[in-house]
Amino acid sequence: MKLNFENTFANELKGFYESSKANNSPSPFLIKFNLELAQDLGPEWLKLESDEGLSIFSGNTVPNGSKPISQAYSGHQFGGFSPLLGDGRAILLGEVVDKKKIRRDVQLKGSGRTVFSRGGDGKSSLGPVLREYLISESMYSLGIPTTRALAAVSTGEDVFRESNLPGGILTRVASSHIRIGTFQYASTTGDLNKIQALADYSINRHYLKLPEKKNKYLEFFEAVCDSQISLISKWMSIGFIHGVMNTDNMTISGETIDYGPCAFMDRYDPNTFFSSIDTQGRYAYSNQPLILSWNLARFAETLIPLIDKDQDRAIKLLSEKIISIKSSYEQEWLKIMAKKIGITVIKNDDLKLLNNLLDIMSENNADFTLTFRYLSELIIGDENLFYNLFKSKEKINKWVITWKGRIKEDSKLDESFLLKLNKNNPLYIPRNHIVEDVLSKALFEKNFQPFHEFYDILVNPYNEKPNSEKYTLPAPITNKPYKTFCGT
Ligand code: AMP
Ligand code: MG
Repeated sequence: MKLNFENTFANELKGFYESSKANNSPSPFLIKFNLELAQDLGPEWLKLESDEGLSIFSGNTVPNGSKPISQAYSGHQFGGFSPLLGDGRAILLGEVVDKKKIRRDVQLKGSGRTVFSRGGDGKSSLGPVLREYLISESMYSLGIPTTRALAAVSTGEDVFRESNLPGGILTRVASSHIRIGTFQYASTTGDLNKIQALADYSINRHYLKLPEKKNKYLEFFEAVCDSQISLISKWMSIGFIHGVMNTDNMTISGETIDYGPCAFMDRYDPNTFFSSIDTQGRYAYSNQPLILSWNLARFAETLIPLIDKDQDRAIKLLSEKIISIKSSYEQEWLKIMAKKIGITVIKNDDLKLLNNLLDIMSENNADFTLTFRYLSELIIGDENLFYNLFKSKEKINKWVITWKGRIKEDSKLDESFLLKLNKNNPLYIPRNHIVEDVLSKALFEKNFQPFHEFYDILVNPYNEKPNSEKYTLPAPITNKPYKTFCGT
């Protein structure tokens, strides 16, 4: 079968990867295949829900035209710099130009050791594979730029973590896997040609439409900043906590990548973090915009030699953009959040109105997703659905009165306004307790039905489905805080 693989990264960026070979999977099984994504990739891809596809997704066959490689990158992990990380458990099969003429990477994640594996086995247990499948496709359906999941397979082989667990491989599709960490890797070589080659490749692949100005690399930096600002604002608007915003997990394309310890917040508390290794809460919900700036400053450092021969001038130019990230983020955030409360043209007091709501939500530990979703119930519907989210009613009552006054200034509060509100506020997100439940049924009972059912709910997050109330509810309150683990 001809899948039209291309290998521009391998051909143009020597020194940024090593050739790689996937392990054989002894007894692979195709758990999930993304027909919708396959359709975007091209007609041949639709034929891969088959033994032939399984053989590719399990690493047993190298498809025609693929030059499998593992990419090199560095990264700041929790603030400390590691000069050589790289794909320790991933193999890039190659690139496919999709139906919309977008070049996309196809990568196997969890297919065995590579030269970058260090002490690891290069494998993945099935739990994190299914978790990434669910959450990345949910993110896509929520309109958040993200890598996608094409296939999830079990390998038929156990991997040892704290105990033996079934092994799995995710086939991931991304607009590229170039990270801030890839630029940091180029920078560690001290070879200006390498940094420039990587920047030129990234511009050609992601930012062809840079405005015509004199300093192409400065504009490239600004464009990456804008993509990341937009991305993190969107995360914040849905209560998404990435959990491991290390520079090796931040893409140049502006897609969300690496779903290891991420999770959605149920009850609103800006200090929430879930990752078991994030002991200080560095990547807590409310820190994400600060880390955004920090990561982009690390990116800027790698570009200094490309921006200007005069290093001081280069630093000055880059610093101007870095300083502006905070206010650009705040504007972007306000625009997205205002839409969630039905405001499209922002007025002076709207920021206060939003912050006031968030304060009341925080005081009441109100569910983040449902608070916004049930605003529409205050227009037409059952207003108790909204008010029941708040333990104490006084402040929220007052807020609702002010809010209704404000939205009446711009809109008629009718059915179409309600539809507009609901389009910006999902009903279904991957709630942690349900994710855990469907994964545990899949892994320990070999019952994949709940996983498939939940997936079908998540890929249509705005439309209420009959008999699906359980998917809307936050986890029951327990004394045991929810913890997540890196996706190994
Ligand atoms: P992550 O925290 O998942 O972004 O991964 C950080 C680094 O650890 C990357 O270089 C990964 O390739 C590597 N890594 C994670 N899990 C494994 C594994 N099971 N075997 C080898 N390398 C791994
Ligand atoms: Mg990573």
